[in-house]
Amino acid sequence: MERLPTSPAIATEQPPRPRASTRNRKRAPVVKSDSAPVKRKRSQKAQAQQPAPKAVGDSDSMLVGEPFPAEEAHSRWPNRYMRQRGPKRRNAAAEEEVTARLHYRSAKVDDTIYNIGDDVYVTAGEDLPDYIGRITEFFEGVDNGRYLTCRWFFRPQDTVISSKKLVHDHTHHPRRVFLSDERNDNDLDCIVSKVKIIQVDPKLDREAKDRLVADADLYFDMSYNVAYSSFENITADINDNSEISFDGGDNSESNAPATKATLLDLYSGCGGMSTGLCLGAGILGLQIETRWAVDININACESFKCNHPNTKVRNEKVEDFLSLLKKWSFLCHKYIDKHNGDASPSLLKDEGEEHELGKGKLAIDKLTAICYGGIEREKCIYFKVQWNDHRFKDSWEPMEKLRAYPVKIKEFVQEGHREKILPLPGDVDVLCGGPPCQGLSGNNRHRKCDKPLDDDKNRQIVTFMDIVSFLKPKYVLMENVADILKLNGGSVGRYALSRLVALNYQSRMGLMVAGCYGLPQFRMRMFLWGALPTMVLPKYPLPTHDVVVRGGAPSAFSQSVVAYDENQKPTLKEALCLRDAISDLPKVSNNEAADETVYRAKAETDFQRYIRLSRKEMLDYSFGDNKGPSEGKLLDHRPLKLNKDDYERVKQIPYQKGANFRNLTGVKVGQDNVAYMDPTVKPPCLESGKPLVPYYALKYVKGKSLKPFGRLWWDETVPTVFTRAESHNQIILHPEQARVLTVRENARLQGFPDYYRMYGPIKERYIQVGNAVAVPVARALGYALAQAFLRKTEGNNNPLIVLPDDFSDVDAMRARASSSLAEELEGASDLSSSGN
Ligand code: SAH
Repeated sequence: MERLPTSPAIATEQPPRPRASTRNRKRAPVVKSDSAPVKRKRSQKAQAQQPAPKAVGDSDSMLVGEPFPAEEAHSRWPNRYMRQRGPKRRNAAAEEEVTARLHYRSAKVDDTIYNIGDDVYVTAGEDLPDYIGRITEFFEGVDNGRYLTCRWFFRPQDTVISSKKLVHDHTHHPRRVFLSDERNDNDLDCIVSKVKIIQVDPKLDREAKDRLVADADLYFDMSYNVAYSSFENITADINDNSEISFDGGDNSESNAPATKATLLDLYSGCGGMSTGLCLGAGILGLQIETRWAVDININACESFKCNHPNTKVRNEKVEDFLSLLKKWSFLCHKYIDKHNGDASPSLLKDEGEEHELGKGKLAIDKLTAICYGGIEREKCIYFKVQWNDHRFKDSWEPMEKLRAYPVKIKEFVQEGHREKILPLPGDVDVLCGGPPCQGLSGNNRHRKCDKPLDDDKNRQIVTFMDIVSFLKPKYVLMENVADILKLNGGSVGRYALSRLVALNYQSRMGLMVAGCYGLPQFRMRMFLWGALPTMVLPKYPLPTHDVVVRGGAPSAFSQSVVAYDENQKPTLKEALCLRDAISDLPKVSNNEAADETVYRAKAETDFQRYIRLSRKEMLDYSFGDNKGPSEGKLLDHRPLKLNKDDYERVKQIPYQKGANFRNLTGVKVGQDNVAYMDPTVKPPCLESGKPLVPYYALKYVKGKSLKPFGRLWWDETVPTVFTRAESHNQIILHPEQARVLTVRENARLQGFPDYYRMYGPIKERYIQVGNAVAVPVARALGYALAQAFLRKTEGNNNPLIVLPDDFSDVDAMRARASSSLAEELEGASDLSSSGN
């Protein structure tokens, strides 16, 4: 079995690495930005050179001026001089470094003098755009070569974004580059020319940037780090030769950050992702309020609403939601006076107008809701009308038809604006969502591999980014299947990142394994962070549990897996198994139909104690200070009922590890691992007359599968929680009962707190649970988000953070809950005393 890949020391996408050129501007060997590092090769000519005291090199390229005094050179570039000092103490990264004899401040190439700190074009290869670098060293090697060391700038197309265009919906500023930490040595004669690059405050808008950039060749405002594909504000002082004083991102802002935040959950499902985010942020005192949620599935919306009664849950397509937001923004502009948030005075005359127009028409009591809908191509805004005459039922009417009632519309807009029924640009602090990508699924044989975003099923990523573009939330978190980085070279994932960067967001991308956060489930998912340049970009929370990886990371992005470096790994908690998660749940039959029962046993494991915590103990404020409905009861502990035939089959699958249809009477397995029916015995039949061993089980994966009617075992970790409770081709039978796992058992594997209830037909509940972001993963991300939001992260560019030891410790959770309650009470008494 394979262990988790370690976190990147060097990352997947390699920087432009110019190699030694020969003279006369002959191009260096081509090294593509995502190719593997190549061993440095020095030019023949350079090796043949002899050092000269003041000008080292041939007539076209030479090191000039006095060399650095030995002491200064040794202290500034110790690795360069180590070999000369004897013992090899150099680290692996330094191993490639050329040993230096002398360092210089300047060099002359083709009659131009270059100094340390200058930005230069460096030859890349025939017909390739030159590399761009900032000179950090000039030195003469012990091999007599003359070298420069550059810290590289990346053009957008040199980064993980790459240049393949999938959708022509965005462009990058043609002069924008990103400063990286990557550097390496090259022969002096690789220098082509100087280039003027200025550093620009990332918070400036496009026009301000254009003005500043007018007399420069290029500009940079963010750094690029191949580790987790990070594009980020620059915090360290690397501003050697910029003309702009720069405050290094938002860390220096003097105002204390807010401790409340609003959240919009798109493709919300039953709410796994936003619930987890809120729980995790709460630990650091950031109260995230999920104000709005959108999903096309009515049952998922119902579940969301019942667990988060204060959220405005919208059952509609996200693409319609976007059109609605735009129209709503227009209406608010029209009807709201910016200064006092009320009707603009110019509109008040509408009152009389309505009186006129309303004459003879059916009177409207009020408008109660708004949506964007109707028949395709004729879609428009609709209002829900409550008629004055109560014999008429409320009805949805297109806005066009309500022209005669401008005051009603105005009142609705004003009220809706006050209530924030819909977000306007700037209203959303955190936008999260998992736009579905069925078109990307490994199982989808019809997927369009070349142009995945032409596939309607993948268009949701574009819509998601359109919403980011419109609402400009402070933070973005997008979740998706790992396949988004696999299909067509990961082009859909690259598109998402490219779009965020083009929208001037800081961003990074990582793959997380659910089991690493305390679940008996593998489940690898991609998470993409975005943060406005005025905010701190969140990091990824390192694992708390030691989970064995079964592969799954697309190879080009294997270094994006959020994990410890193998040689820096602390002792993590042991991976969880099925027993840890569900052993305390009472026995239920295949027929069980009760949505609500009682626990019959105490929690047996830390996980069970944790998952049974109350809303308050979990820091879930969805019901304010009240308990939610049925808290303390055991919810959704019922299985999808197997039909009579399957139930009979399942009863005959032995209650033991690894059991499946192959254990049924009459099944034999050949040496080729193919299952077949023993031809010497009559195939056994069920009561119904159907065969005990169904044909599909024998034929699944050409008879080689162990999945049909497979039983889970207590010591196992499941690969992933499914959306269907289907025992014909998945291992989903309870270890010791004749049934599939219940909705609650699946919810436990996904880390939903026991108080979280699912609604809708039973099959729909499985779908909601199986679709969700595992709550503990979202919770860990919520913690990382709060750290960034509250500016509690260290201002370094390390993309990873360590979660506190007691992150999910039950006693610590209870203590946190009572201290936050105490704070609230204190706050309340402060208020009352100040009122006296
Ligand atoms: N993030 C959720 C799970 C989302 S699954 C969680 O953690 O619980 C994806 C959801 O997208 C499904 O609930 C599906 O109903 C919804 N969906 C699919 N296409 C949609 C569309 N065009 N508009 C809105 N919702 C959509």
